[in-house]
Amino acid sequence: MNKTKNNDHMRIIGQYAGGHKKLILLGRFLAGISAVITLIPYYLLWKIIKIATEGTNLQEIEPIAWEAVGLTVLSLLVYIAALFCTHIAAFRVQANMRSGLMRRILTLPLGVFDDEGTGRIRRIVNDSTAATETFIAHNLPDKTVAAVTPVGLLVLIFAFNWKIGLICMIPAVIGFLCMMTMMGKGMQEKMAEYQGALETMSSEATEYVRGIPVVKTFGQTVHSFTRFKKTIDDFGKWATDYTIMLRKPMIGFMTCINAIFLFIVLSAYLFIGSGVTPQAVDILNIMYYIIVTPLITVALTKVAYSGEAEMTLIDALDRVKSVMDIEPLSDGEGDKEPQGNSLELKDVTYRYKDGASDAVKNVSARIEQGEHVAFVGPSGSGKTTICELIARFFDVDSGEILIGGVNVQEIPQKKLMEYISFVFQDSRLLKTSIFENVRLSRPDASEAEVMEALKKAQCMDIIEKLPGGIHTVIGEKGIYLSGGERQRIAIARAILKDAPILILDEATAFADPDNEARVQAAFEEMTKGKTMIMIAHRLSTVTNADRIFVMEHGGITEQGRHEELMALNGLYRRLYDEYTRSVEWKVGA
Ligand code: ADP
Ligand code: MG
Repeated sequence: MNKTKNNDHMRIIGQYAGGHKKLILLGRFLAGISAVITLIPYYLLWKIIKIATEGTNLQEIEPIAWEAVGLTVLSLLVYIAALFCTHIAAFRVQANMRSGLMRRILTLPLGVFDDEGTGRIRRIVNDSTAATETFIAHNLPDKTVAAVTPVGLLVLIFAFNWKIGLICMIPAVIGFLCMMTMMGKGMQEKMAEYQGALETMSSEATEYVRGIPVVKTFGQTVHSFTRFKKTIDDFGKWATDYTIMLRKPMIGFMTCINAIFLFIVLSAYLFIGSGVTPQAVDILNIMYYIIVTPLITVALTKVAYSGEAEMTLIDALDRVKSVMDIEPLSDGEGDKEPQGNSLELKDVTYRYKDGASDAVKNVSARIEQGEHVAFVGPSGSGKTTICELIARFFDVDSGEILIGGVNVQEIPQKKLMEYISFVFQDSRLLKTSIFENVRLSRPDASEAEVMEALKKAQCMDIIEKLPGGIHTVIGEKGIYLSGGERQRIAIARAILKDAPILILDEATAFADPDNEARVQAAFEEMTKGKTMIMIAHRLSTVTNADRIFVMEHGGITEQGRHEELMALNGLYRRLYDEYTRSVEWKVGA
């Protein structure tokens, strides 16, 4: 990942802000003005104390006091105006960032969402842009305030008695140095590690929760726990190290800041003490320092926070960039249209980014228009990968995939999606009504058409038991569907889409025996006259296929009809016998 340099971030923000850049500048300028105005009442306070101690002209106090109040209100108003400007700009930047990200995400190969983890991308779209918004809206004006205030304070402190001023500055300077050690380059890296750890933890948590059905079914507790647990342990260790690292500078900082009064007393002792009758103006100055020096604390704390916010921002910008830098799918140079619905794989090879070996290797196959084929084979043999390559979740490393004689890479993404319906093994539904969920595949479909699709997908029993029929929102008020039910809704979605090529990846894997018969019936309904690829775990569902491809280690090792493959006495026969035995065992048990 290309790290954003420290002074690069304002340029990047500027790019997202566009014309609103000027508003940011105006906001910062106003914040600076407000900081200066804030300091004037402290000078007026000095004047009031002076008049009070002198005891003459007491009537002058009131107008000065009002002036102080007026200026305080004015500084507040100017600050609000500053925030107003920066907020408008910040919302614009956030909106531009989010739409930029979303536009980018739409062009990305679908496979990215497996590789990168949807949790990570979601966090970036939500949190990193929100962090940028906070930075511009609040931290940028505060940063100006944090820069202006110490300068103004210095002027104030030195203006009255530079010797006392100098002594008061000692703890402030030491405190500042302590703080700087907390801000260095090492800290920037720490901040990135912190965000990284949070992210890993969140995506591991999501994966963990998602994996619970598998964990429960197969009792893979140890494996799944260790990964999740390790990320938490790592985070815990990291947090402890970080805290220990910050302990010394933090103690130094806090001690110095709170020791300021000690130094005022010290300087009072030095300059006024030694038995000589103190001058009224000296007492006045000391009193004044007691009031003003604590402001240094406030100013320094602001500087500290602006530094921290900046680190968060730089990290957020890096994360946004990491998504923007993912290579999009090259969208078909030509806008070719497939000629028919045949499918052809020519010497296709693909390896996942972090894969140790090819997931699919030199696979060639031709599937005719209207043909129903099945891919079977042990888990991990590359069946899902082949289907995902056809739907262009990824682009092949070598070889070609043709639909109707046209390379999928030359078909515009939108067109390709019109040609293919995909029912995934794990069908997810969006948190909206069943009606909208089905209609996703064809947003202009009428209620009657959706109903028809649901009927064909054997979903009527699901609809009937729901309180609001097809307008019931899924995932709300305790309404959830089982895996098999979700599957049938997904099939209805595919039926409504009515695409000429159908890909069903273990679409019956979740179904219980009762559901399976229904799902099977739904398939028959939807596959008439269409080219279909079916990946099946339960071999009973593929015996009728026109052709069965048997996969092993990323390659096709056998192909033919069920009877031919049985006669071959190879892997298919072994798988089939195993399968029948497991069914018998289940029935027997
Ligand atoms: P099947 O569907 O036949 O079970 P897959 O196509 O899912 O097999 O997987 C083929 C191979 O690719 C396996 O070795 C698997 O571990 C690997 N694989 C699958 N998905 C990914 C991924 N997102 N990243 C890395 N490797 C993967
Ligand atoms: Mg699979």
